[in-house]
Amino acid sequence: MNRIVIVGAGPAGIAAAEVLCARGHRPILIDEGEQAGGQGYRQPSAGLALDMSRLMGSEAGKYDALHARFANLKGRIDYRPRTMVWAIDGRTLHLVCDGRADVVEADTLLLATGAMDRVAPLPGWTLPGVFTLGGAQVALKDQGCLIGHRVAFLGSSPLLLLAAGQYREMGGEVAVVADTTPLRAKAAAFPAMMRSPRTLLRGLAYMAGAMRAGTPLLHGVTPLAIEGEGHVEALRVRDGRGRERRFSCDAVALGYGLKPETQLADLAGAALAYDADFRLFLPKTDGFGRSRPGLYLAGDGATIGGADAAEASGALAAHAVLTDLGASQDIAVIRRLARQVVRLRGFQRGLARAFAWPVAQIRAQPDATVLCRCENVTIGAVRAAMAQTLGPVEVNRVKAMTRCGMGRCQGRVCGPALQEIVAGVSGQDGAAAGRLRGQAPVKPIALAAAADTAP
Ligand SMILES: Cc1cc2nc3c(=O)[nH]c(=O)nc-3n(C[C@H](O)[C@H](O)[C@H](O)COP(=O)(O)OP(=O)(O)OC[C@H]3O[C@@H](n4cnc5c(N)ncnc54)[C@H](O)[C@@H]3O)c2cc1C
Repeated sequence: MNRIVIVGAGPAGIAAAEVLCARGHRPILIDEGEQAGGQGYRQPSAGLALDMSRLMGSEAGKYDALHARFANLKGRIDYRPRTMVWAIDGRTLHLVCDGRADVVEADTLLLATGAMDRVAPLPGWTLPGVFTLGGAQVALKDQGCLIGHRVAFLGSSPLLLLAAGQYREMGGEVAVVADTTPLRAKAAAFPAMMRSPRTLLRGLAYMAGAMRAGTPLLHGVTPLAIEGEGHVEALRVRDGRGRERRFSCDAVALGYGLKPETQLADLAGAALAYDADFRLFLPKTDGFGRSRPGLYLAGDGATIGGADAAEASGALAAHAVLTDLGASQDIAVIRRLARQVVRLRGFQRGLARAFAWPVAQIRAQPDATVLCRCENVTIGAVRAAMAQTLGPVEVNRVKAMTRCGMGRCQGRVCGPALQEIVAGVSGQDGAAAGRLRGQAPVKPIALAAAADTAP
């Protein structure tokens, strides 16, 4: 029988496994996490009594439903938690599980690897006490702890208000929610966001909650610096009216939307193309999740769409697998899923405009701002390399000359900002500046664990 491997046990991977199981398959479902659920529906660590219904608010029902469905599914699939795929070489997936190396061969590969935070650098962003927005949520949901007593939320993302609300709910103090996108840009994106009125209302409810709680809520800010001696002490911004504001805090959560985790797709041979709305390179699929023969992509790892779209696209990709394996299909079900995915991803395009990636602010950063924190490369060092005679104008060449993006995160953190700096200095668009190619290991691994099976 065709061996089907799914990577990622978030809503997309779980929905895909359910569809395949229902048709008599027993897919392998791999996830590096201790427990299933992915990012949005993350469960607390074992033994931690955390009131998740309080934390998840209006999404508590969906959270419970997904985990109940997974409990029912678990015994009928080959589920491999705590297992990270760090390389793909043809049909072979290279794994690390509990510190031990392993390989698995896949006839059919369905990647549902989700997303991670996109961050924009500013002076002080490498200080202890600065977390990504998702990191701040992981600390809360996984460990039941806050990243600080008084937290500033900075960036441009609907998750800023969500996370700030969760922090308030769990007893944290919110110093400010500072969004770089002006309110009028958000208003202009309203028609696209009407594609999912329920999600839009949820976002408005977060905003109302922040206002009721008296949380300072700023739109159209220019971040100036995160200040502190050895640790975060304050966030300094210029507000939408041009006034400089300083907010005392002991932690900052930084997030400019999400970027798909595309490295495994890249290694598996997926084609990627530049998307001008998201200003990111996204994997190309046929709309049902097909990338190339034998490779399928679903969820936020394919295109940012949110949890509901992830679930629908996971089911859709599994139906594409079944179709390609010659199984008969209910066309009405496939059409319904496809329509749902298009609608919800369209909503996210509206969000991408309402919570824009602040291109001009990134390009205006001073030379001294650290761009690549793994290798401690400043924006000035990138500009200087590019200013040389016949200097590089493409991100992979810039990486080779400056080591920007060459550290342990493999450019997953600095890549999008590097792309904007390179585009800005060379006067090209983001597409021409290029993207950092996916490289194994896609995430840090112990060399000893990998030595036996390295591709
Ligand atoms: C940190 C974070 C917090 C979020 N919080 C919320 C929230 O509170 N509310 C909300 O509506 N949305 C949230 N989101 C958005 C969220 O991404 C989607 O709503 C939804 O979870 C996407 O589902 P998915 O199945 O595509 O991916 P995910 O749910 O992200 O699942 C992907 C899974 O793939 C696994 N994986 C990735 N790479 C590998 C690898 N190399 N090897 C093995 N396993 C791998 C991960 O461990 C993960 O479990 C959050 C996103 C992030 C990044």
